[in-house]
Amino acid sequence: MIANSIISKKYHKFEKWGGDNMSSLQEKFTSANSRLNNELNYIIQAFINFYGKKHRDYIVSVLQDLKIIWYEDIKFKEGSEISDYIVSSLSEDQINAYLKKYNKKCFSQSAYIDEIDVLVLPLSYDITHIIHEINHKVSSHILSLEPLKIISGVCTSVEKDIGVIQENSDLNEAINQKMTLEILDELRKLGLEIQYSTSWQENMFPLINLFYESFKEILKDTYISGDIVSFIKIIGAENYSEFSQRIFMKGFRLKRSLIKGEIPIITEEDVKEIESIVTFMQNFTCEAKTSEDKRKI
Ligand SMILES: [Zn+2]
Repeated sequence: MIANSIISKKYHKFEKWGGDNMSSLQEKFTSANSRLNNELNYIIQAFINFYGKKHRDYIVSVLQDLKIIWYEDIKFKEGSEISDYIVSSLSEDQINAYLKKYNKKCFSQSAYIDEIDVLVLPLSYDITHIIHEINHKVSSHILSLEPLKIISGVCTSVEKDIGVIQENSDLNEAINQKMTLEILDELRKLGLEIQYSTSWQENMFPLINLFYESFKEILKDTYISGDIVSFIKIIGAENYSEFSQRIFMKGFRLKRSLIKGEIPIITEEDVKEIESIVTFMQNFTCEAKTSEDKRKI
């Protein structure tokens, strides 16, 4: 049995914001919202199929009562306001409070904003983006709000005086996108027609393919539990630190070339270098398992 779909069908009309764009915005909102409403049970089932039945209750509870801000994924017209491009079933006061608090750019691209538990999704109903962001929500664990401490998959965010410091964000993005593709496959198996769109994270896939395939099951459990400490223990702290530093450097280089409009290149050498560390991780888990088995005898 799957949870009933719970997204509110009623929505707030932002009369104050009005404008030419408003009626088409409302139409798109109604259509995207009702489509998600219709497909939510499939999405929940696809997540359960991917993560495993043991995580059913967690997934069902996390995907209930989704808070969503939909944004129109088109180029902004000169002189227009972000409020002309977003629509939500959340109250106008709430949205205004968010707009005040956050950098407005937050609501012009797909995102999951952990601290307010809000999904920002495209009105074009790009299912790849939707699943990617929902997977961020599934893997988000808030340890503290003040100061902010979040574990999101394998990424940690900690608020310091100079701002929020993130670690392993690119690695997490690449893993999240790998998972997204598999969850989309689960949706296809359930009979949903999926129009897949590519994302920048895929440029990192050659670097993480072996890592992901080797530790996929543990990664899934870590995403659900937020227990990165245990994950690092399993693959070896030194190995992980070495691995994540190199991914960071290569991810940085890759994003810089994307920003410059260049084709990002990952060499065979890059892949070999990273995969040699993954081999250390594999050996580490094997050795740990053997000595544990010996202890049992
Ligand atoms: Zn992401």
